Amino acid sequence: GGPVIIVGAGHGGYQVAASLRQAGFSDRVCLINDEAHLPYQRPPLSKAYIKGSAGPESLMFRPEKFYADQKIELIAGRAVSIDRAGRRLHLASGEMLDYGHLVLATGARNRLLDLPNANLPDVKYLRILDDSEALRKIMPSRTRVVVIGAGFIGLEFAATARIKGLEVDVLELAPRVMARAVTSEVSAYFQARHREAGIRIHLGVQATSIEAEDGRVTGVSLSDGRHLPADLVVVGVGVLPNIELAAEAGLPVAAGIIVDEYLSTADPDISAIGDCALFASPRFGGSLRLESVQNATDHARCLAARLTGDRKPYDSHPWFWSDQGDDKLQIAGLTTGYDRVVLRGDPAKKAFSAFCYRGDKLVGIESINRAGDHMFGRRLQGMDRSITPEQAADESFDLKSALA
Ligand code: FAD
Repeated sequence: GGPVIIVGAGHGGYQVAASLRQAGFSDRVCLINDEAHLPYQRPPLSKAYIKGSAGPESLMFRPEKFYADQKIELIAGRAVSIDRAGRRLHLASGEMLDYGHLVLATGARNRLLDLPNANLPDVKYLRILDDSEALRKIMPSRTRVVVIGAGFIGLEFAATARIKGLEVDVLELAPRVMARAVTSEVSAYFQARHREAGIRIHLGVQATSIEAEDGRVTGVSLSDGRHLPADLVVVGVGVLPNIELAAEAGLPVAAGIIVDEYLSTADPDISAIGDCALFASPRFGGSLRLESVQNATDHARCLAARLTGDRKPYDSHPWFWSDQGDDKLQIAGLTTGYDRVVLRGDPAKKAFSAFCYRGDKLVGIESINRAGDHMFGRRLQGMDRSITPEQAADESFDLKSALA
């Protein structure tokens, strides 16, 4: 019993608070928010939001009235330490909050580029609303952007910048784009599509320095000796989970805050969810740390259920999406550790799915402009079923028959 205090008002934190109230939780719920906005959706920051002219209110999960009506206390501030013995959270303001249960939903922060001039105002990152606002403001006065990192966020931004008329170069150290996350078939498709759009993609190279004059960026030098002119640099080289609060309180951390399959830390009064959590997954046979809206939201629902008496291990199926230019990528399952990829549909027709198998088992599906395949994959996984690689490759095989 007692108050639930939630550190971080992003996707996970917001959802825990909302789900607790939905389940009838009646004690105090506080959401500690260190951003100067009501809780909002992050995915549009590198997609529609940066393209359009809608105001920040278009991103908010709920208007201010919702929090008042639901008695969710939004507390502006930053948590700085946890007194576990006293079950008390300390904020930077000096304020202290007693908790019955503490939820760490601190997310992740951008990995910073370790190069001279990387802290100039023309070098931008994309994580929070203020980052996206800053880019939106600066872009109309820029003509050439170098994007460092061809992950989801770098490519989403690159596609948008190109549509906005900028010259775009993308640098990637790996031999293909989104190498950590998708099959080489899907990488190849996106490389071709972005290049068709006029984006120059440089693979197997690194930025070695950022040149500037009078505090303004003028270009980027590459590890292969080339130099690219630029008046804007956008960095998307991954994130670091925010684990320090947990670590300083003596909770076990590794590549995330370590939690069990119930999302509990070593301290039964403290849980961690979302991007910051390294959670035990019996289904996937190990520990996972995922960075997705699905993961943060489903973690939040699982935890809120536990705190209101419905204790079950976390066992949701991962899914994800990314919009790049006119293409929509959707991923169902975890497309890692596969040994065979089967295509359904035709990349030349801009609509296909990569079905990934480990042995006979379908582990995940990457769909491009094939929402039906994606939804099929999620439903099939929910039923713990599979289809054979031969069925997947055969467009005359009716997917629905596998769900019957
Ligand atoms: P977050 O949403 O990051 O929230 C954590 C919050 O905690 C932040 O507000 C942070 O400031 C705050 N915080 C940290 N420490 C403290 C502290 N000590 N005190 C108080 N507050 C603190 N996922 C998808 O599935 N699809 C997409 O298309 C997609 N696109 C994305 C595009 C961008 C530009 C970004 C940045 C992310 C995208 N993601 C996408 C990932 C997704 O947004 C994250 O996985 C998700 O937000 C994780 O939720 P979270 O609650 O764990 O962390």
